[in-house]
Order: sequence, then structure tokens, then C-alpha cells
Amino acid sequence: MEDLTVIAIDGPAGSGKSTIAKRVAAELDLEYLDTGAMYRAVTFAALAKGIEPDDGEAVTKLAAAVDIDLGADGTVTVEGIDATTQIRGPEVTRAVSAVAAHPGVRTELVSRQREWAHRRGGGVLEGRDIGSAVFPDALAKIYLTASPEVRAARRAGEVADLDYDTVAADIARRDALDSSRTADPLRRADGAVEIDTTHLTIDDVVALLVDRVRAARGA
Ligand code: C5P
Repeated sequence: MEDLTVIAIDGPAGSGKSTIAKRVAAELDLEYLDTGAMYRAVTFAALAKGIEPDDGEAVTKLAAAVDIDLGADGTVTVEGIDATTQIRGPEVTRAVSAVAAHPGVRTELVSRQREWAHRRGGGVLEGRDIGSAVFPDALAKIYLTASPEVRAARRAGEVADLDYDTVAADIARRDALDSSRTADPLRRADGAVEIDTTHLTIDDVVALLVDRVRAARGA
């Protein structure tokens, strides 16, 4: 088995995953993969083609064929179209958990995520099932949480045209779907370190994680 330096960062929406994963990747000189953007990209493609998010067969077929390009600068291109803004919009956000619940979609995207890491000798991967399903043997596995209020406030601050109540309701609905699905549900992976970020600054969490990874590397 080849030696991969994989850092797995999982947690619910608004727990600070993206911000923290990007910073940890920069500090450790690793690349960063936002796996949620991949599920969002498939959802964007499905909606563009008029495919129902609940249609497992059609969505799975689409996931296997769709061309997704995640740029290092955060741009997301789907079938040659810049979808960076739209994948974060309300239509995709509403439908993404239904798309991500199909086992066939997950098999396809998990395989792309593993390939991404193998090509680079590792990386920082952020999502819901990285430590439990994609890389259960990751060098470091982190599960980030925060209170529902703080998570909603963080997301509302990022999305200019949505109010706090709408964002809070969306997060609660997605967390419920993501945690209750049969295929690789959101949960703290065995061996993952749980960090509650409610009262911590980004700098605090990044420093904590970088220390852990350096310790694991040195071990
Ligand atoms: O991370 P983000 O909120 O952009 O993820 C969007 C959705 O994609 C999640 O609510 C979840 O349904 C799905 N997802 C997943 N597994 C991952 C990453 C995201 O099921 N590894």
C-alpha cells in the first residue's frame, strides 16, 4: 500500500470545514479537495438537464459521465460551464442531499476522490464521509462540530441574499437527511478527533489540527 498523507475533515454544514481545511492545507503544503462541491456539481448538472434529484438511476448515470473540474482557485466547471456561483445557490442547496443519498452517486464520486488523492500522494479532503468511507486509514481524521445557532449564523454571513431563519432551516433539513441516509451517513468516524468550534477562532482550530498532523507524521 502506497503511503498517502491524507487529512480527513468531516462535519455538518457551517462547522467551519472549508475555511479550516483550506488553511490547514496551505500550512502543510498539501492540496485541498472540497468534496461537497462535487455533489453540488452533479446536482447542478441534474437540474440543468431536468433530471429529478430523487431519480436514482438517472442521477447515478449522470454522475458517472459528468465532467467536473475543480480549480485550485475555487472555480467549479461542470461540462465546460462555470458553475461556481450556481452550485452554492438555493436550487442546488435544496436538492443536493437527495442527490448525495443515492449509493451509485457516492460510489462514483468516492472513486474520483480517491483517485484525486492518489495522484497527489494525499491532500486535505473535506466532506461528510471522508474519515468513515473514503479514507478510513487517513493519517489524521477530524470531526468538526458547532452549535446549530453558530453554524447557521456563519452560513448566513456567507450567503448575502438569505436571512438567518431560512439558512437555519436549510441546515437543519440537510443535516437530518445527511445523517439518516443509508449510504455513508454523516457521523464521526471511528478514530476521529471531535472538535467543537463554537467558541474557538479559526486560528485556534487550525493550530490544533496542524499540531496533530505533525505529531502523527512524526510518530
Ligand atoms: O459541504 P457542502 O455543504 O457543500 O455539501 C453539500 C452536500 O453534499 C451535503 O449536504 C451532503 O448532502 C453532500 N455531501 C456528501 N458527502 C460529502 C460531501 C458532501 O454527502 N463527502
